[in-house]
Amino acid sequence: MTPTPPDEALPIPPDEALIAGAWRRGAGAPTETVDPATGRPLATVHAATVEEVAEAAEAAARAAADPRWRDLLPHQRARLLTRIAELIDAEGGRLAALQTADTGKALTETRALVASAAGTFRYTAAALETAEEAITPARGAYVTMSVYEPIGVVGAINPWNSPVASDAQKLAPALAGGNAVLLKPADWTPLVSLALGRLVTRALDELGLPTALLAVLPGRGSVVGDAIVRDPRVGKVSFTGGTSTGRTLAHAAAEKLMPVSLELGGKSPTVVLADADVEQALAGVMFGVFSSSGQSCIAGSRLFVARALYDDFVGELAERVRKLRVGPGTDPATQVAPLVHHRHRDAVAAYVDLARAEGARVLAGGAVPEGEEYADGAYYLPTLLDGLPNSARVCQEEIFGPVLVALPFDDEDDLVAQADASVYGLACGIWTRDHRAAWRIARRIDAGTVWINTYKQFSISTPFGGMKDSGLGREKGRDGIRQYQRQKSLYWGTSESPLPWAN
Ligand code: NAD
Repeated sequence: MTPTPPDEALPIPPDEALIAGAWRRGAGAPTETVDPATGRPLATVHAATVEEVAEAAEAAARAAADPRWRDLLPHQRARLLTRIAELIDAEGGRLAALQTADTGKALTETRALVASAAGTFRYTAAALETAEEAITPARGAYVTMSVYEPIGVVGAINPWNSPVASDAQKLAPALAGGNAVLLKPADWTPLVSLALGRLVTRALDELGLPTALLAVLPGRGSVVGDAIVRDPRVGKVSFTGGTSTGRTLAHAAAEKLMPVSLELGGKSPTVVLADADVEQALAGVMFGVFSSSGQSCIAGSRLFVARALYDDFVGELAERVRKLRVGPGTDPATQVAPLVHHRHRDAVAAYVDLARAEGARVLAGGAVPEGEEYADGAYYLPTLLDGLPNSARVCQEEIFGPVLVALPFDDEDDLVAQADASVYGLACGIWTRDHRAAWRIARRIDAGTVWINTYKQFSISTPFGGMKDSGLGREKGRDGIRQYQRQKSLYWGTSESPLPWAN
């Protein structure tokens, strides 16, 4: 294992935003970003202002129309993505260390996220080079073609939980589609996006492309994010974040009749049938909710266990949850790292207090860990609750922390009714040896992704997105690039004679 770099070696980017192709300090308010493992300030980042967003959008529109970029053929654009992937790989260890410092996440996880970001650029380059346009069947004296063109300027707005991966998931297909991008990182975690922005600028420079093809604009969502969404030059916004923010953004987009893709919140059910391989299910349920300290949109945060197995399974689960190792993300032994911010930790703790008030049994955790080593960090113990009806707030609302609530079910109809009694529809896990039961349940449950005898596995080649309040649209997959393009139909006349009507 690569040794953890000392703090001094952290590649903290300078306090500069990428505006109109150049790095400079934003003219907006300063925000301190803090290492949640220690509470220690890492860096101060000045926000961009609304005027700077407009300046970046204007430069991005010019860059998107610049013949050096506009006239590139797909395989030539793919070269940019491949170069970005190489630069991410070369900087992988430093980017992972930076993300661990800024988000608190375990290094094992941030290393995987950085590798997946490079993989996303590489996959998208390959998809771009091999994407085909169609000649559609003609119904007259013409040849019809369906082609795809850039939108122009695209906004990419991301949350704080996995910045490097979510940035790559938007930047790669947006650039592949021939666009310029205005990227807004989350207020609590701007550092990785700023570091990634430097790599993209370097790749653009090396290839002689306009650097204004990317802007990185830190700042508050209600100011910088809102200005991106409302800017008349921005033709699409791809958003990942909470459902209520997504709804606000969709309203603003409706004013402009602008397409949006929304990757939103979740409260995903994990289902353990009576015939499940219990060892696999225990490991999968814990990984599904407690990895990333539960700060994952797809966290399997509602556990449904067949009533016949319920007491044994939940009892054993509680034992194991109590043994999970809580510690800093830099310790390779850590399973549950600190939460992203002390304020978020307090919000998670408030949900557990609410559960107690609603009558929950706390089977594991339910508190801040004790001990000197935890005193300054945003830690919370992995927590298992039960004894609540499915209608309780902690069974319905996204907590986005290491909190799992268990419920029994009687039969498949009862299970599906309970699982689907949620505004969300992002993901689902099913643990069973009965492939027919898995098929029936997987097809009935409202979820954009269903994992059967596994959980939280991700492939860039597989589309991802939510149903119901979990979102709109799909990212990833070969068609991911098409989400950042406009479709156009061309008719080529083949007749030797004039159109008959005019004669
Ligand atoms: P959030 O909605 O508060 O913020 C997300 C981003 O939107 C941030 O960059 C924020 O500054 C910006 N923003 C806020 N208000 C805005 C506005 N009015 N206009 C434009 N932008 C605005 O979410 P968060 O707290 O950063 O992240 C946690 C949420 O993200 C959870 O609900 C989680 O489920 C969700 N999430 C979803 C996915 C997915 O793929 N479905 C992935 C990760 C996280």
